[in-house]
Amino acid sequence: MTEKEITLRDLPGVGEKTAEKLESVGMDDLMAIATASPAELAAIAEIGEGQAAKIIAAARNALNMGFESGLEVLEKRKQIARITTGSKALDALLGGGIETGSITECYGAFGSAKTQLAHQLSVNVQLPKNQGGLNGNALYIDTEQTFRPERIIQMAEALGLKGEDVLKNIFVARAYNSDHQILLVEKAKDIIKKENIRLIIVDSVTAHFRADYSGRGNLAERQQKLNKHLHTLQRYADAYNLAVYITNQVMAKPDVFFGDPTEAVGGHVLHHAATFRVYLRKSKGNKRIARLVDSPNLPDGEAVFVVTEEGIRDE
Ligand code: ADP
Ligand code: MG
Repeated sequence: MTEKEITLRDLPGVGEKTAEKLESVGMDDLMAIATASPAELAAIAEIGEGQAAKIIAAARNALNMGFESGLEVLEKRKQIARITTGSKALDALLGGGIETGSITECYGAFGSAKTQLAHQLSVNVQLPKNQGGLNGNALYIDTEQTFRPERIIQMAEALGLKGEDVLKNIFVARAYNSDHQILLVEKAKDIIKKENIRLIIVDSVTAHFRADYSGRGNLAERQQKLNKHLHTLQRYADAYNLAVYITNQVMAKPDVFFGDPTEAVGGHVLHHAATFRVYLRKSKGNKRIARLVDSPNLPDGEAVFVVTEEGIRDE
């Protein structure tokens, strides 16, 4: 049976009241239920965790979420779509653009174009599919207060789009601290379907965590919260076949004398969470160099692009 044949109300343990509560937060499809945690579902539906676990198990059964053949995995991967970055070289490095179903992380020093890329992707996701977009909208969580509508207008007009139309389709929220950031991502599921969100941006994903949990003693708690936060983002990527783009600062590693003396904040947690990791660095003038690090299916390599008035482009 497919997802369409079984609905939320067919799951054992889901009564009318529970169904309504779940629907009111946008958890109206089996995939959203199947990928939830019992604690989360229990809180939303105001039911016990035991009952929540049973509902989740039933949703997973209905969706056949156990082992699947490699062929089935291949079929699923055919659903994956890509958003162009604006640069053919950078797209090629990423296997055609940033992928839905995955988290793409860009890390790099101040001014390396992490935020410029976030702006460009929020515009490009709105393009029709034959122009490298997904005909969808963007949800933008701005933690460093660097979202600039004026810059969106510039990039949109450079593509022949009306600035205001493009701005209307970017849902921006400022996060004031790490708890607020976590909450915003959790609330995002209320609008993902309604607003046809195909791209979620968190710029930067680590800055608040770094500030709020400074000091060695807080490291474990920070990593745990960050891990859960990234898990939520990955669930959205899977459940709604959308792309997630996160940015991360680099910090100096004073004990490294050879190679690159910088390391992404967040350590091993981010290392496992992001499917695609891209290291950005400044080159001459408006040139930037992107290096793909640890991709599951693409060769490591580098691409050069430029940041112009029009946005991200090839050199
Ligand atoms: P970060 O990696 O810190 O997020 P940004 O994405 O904010 O870096 O990149 C900032 C850089 O982008 C600026 O230093 C500038 O080179 C370039 N930039 C920003 N706005 C424009 C613009 N309107 N025209 C051309 N280049 C721009
Ligand atoms: Mg930035």
